[in-house]
Amino acid sequence: MSSSSPWPASPSLPRPVASNQPVWEDRTELQRLLDHGFPWLRFPPDLEARFQQDMVAQRLRHFLLSGLVALLVYNGFLVVDYLMASDVFWLALQIRLLVFTPFALLVLYVYWRWGDHILRWRSPALIEGPVLCSGLMAAASLAFILSSSSTPLSHYYHVGFIIVIMYGNIVQRLRFWMAVPFSLVVLLMHLGGVVVLDNMPPRLLGPIVIMVLATIVFTLVANYTLERDERRHYLLTLRERALVQELAQTHERLMDLSKVDGLTELANRRHFQDYLEQVWRRAQPDRAPLALLMVDVDHFKKYNDRYGHPAGDAALRQVARVLESNVRRPGDLVARYGGEEFVAVLPQTSAETALLVAERVRAAIEALALRHEVSNVARVLTVSVGVAHGVAGDVASPEALLKQADQALYQAKREGRNRTRLLQGPLPQPSQAL
Ligand code: GH3
Ligand code: MG
Ligand code: MG
Repeated sequence: MSSSSPWPASPSLPRPVASNQPVWEDRTELQRLLDHGFPWLRFPPDLEARFQQDMVAQRLRHFLLSGLVALLVYNGFLVVDYLMASDVFWLALQIRLLVFTPFALLVLYVYWRWGDHILRWRSPALIEGPVLCSGLMAAASLAFILSSSSTPLSHYYHVGFIIVIMYGNIVQRLRFWMAVPFSLVVLLMHLGGVVVLDNMPPRLLGPIVIMVLATIVFTLVANYTLERDERRHYLLTLRERALVQELAQTHERLMDLSKVDGLTELANRRHFQDYLEQVWRRAQPDRAPLALLMVDVDHFKKYNDRYGHPAGDAALRQVARVLESNVRRPGDLVARYGGEEFVAVLPQTSAETALLVAERVRAAIEALALRHEVSNVARVLTVSVGVAHGVAGDVASPEALLKQADQALYQAKREGRNRTRLLQGPLPQPSQAL
């Protein structure tokens, strides 16, 4: 029902909730991953895609912030250039300030300014790519500066590659499977610089290469651990969300079940009473008319005795379906009131219309032609219908209207059953009734 409807929350009754949740909402799958781990730092494809996408925004923020810090540090190394590779200081200055920095600032600006648009692509490569490129460019610029310098001190400066490795693996925290090739390429640049271009003394070469290698190993271990923890935390968050969602669904389902009659799947008496209260409250300010139908199966005890209780149940279900299909205007609600008695509320309905609906229901049940050989009324199953009609405000309460419908039903029974009777207007006051 639309929100502009004058009637309270939809009276339509719940059907079982279909379970078509994507796999990662499946708590058992999440639990399996948490229990057995994910040593290759990969989730099943669907979950992996979602993980990467969910992390993109966070990684963008991290990239911008640590990118700026790393750029400051990168240019701070001009001091080291000046002290350890003084013969190529001007070259270093140009490379750092005129080539790398403007390019890095441009990339950072673009990501800062149009981050939202970039995020819409939801591609992790859009973050990992610039991190990888910036690290490799920093390593290349260092290799170039060092290979151009011929001061003996520049040999020691090769440990600078350690900083580049730390930048990619720890500061920017490239994804592990990016950090591995990144580390290898930086290692190759370093080895190319020291072995091919630089004539580094062998006593220095060994220790520096070992230091760079050790840095690669340590930072990769740290990188692996960080990513594993990040992924684990992500799974825990998803599991918690799935749990909350499951609880909410269970709660909703229980709420729904508490409103349904198990046999006929119509609303039960409690739900009907709640709904009638709501309709009543809404109708009161406008003094809107409303009608109640009370439907009772005729000689149903005999039906049970003759055809058995299961057949009686089946007949009640059929009667319920007929009621459902004949009382179906938005705002109408049909319920099983108890035993073989049904009730319907028809808001905003005139007495004439209510009588028409009641008669339609009665005739439709008769037309079902359910054999009832021992009925005193007909050869088939029939119902009697009591109709009450009133204006909220004139009639004292919903209970008074129900009582009115019950009295109308009683009248229909007394007059021979298989008929509809209407009682209208306010009930007589107790003093008048005497
Ligand atoms: P009347 O025409 O005056 O309404 O007579 P009746 O026999 O229908 O009314 P009575 O109140 O004497 O009997 C109601 C019967 O409805 C008795 C009971 O066994 C049966 N009944 C109530 N609930 C169920 C149910 O869930 N399933 C079945 N099969 N029978 C039910
Ligand atoms: Mg009956
Ligand atoms: Mg009855």
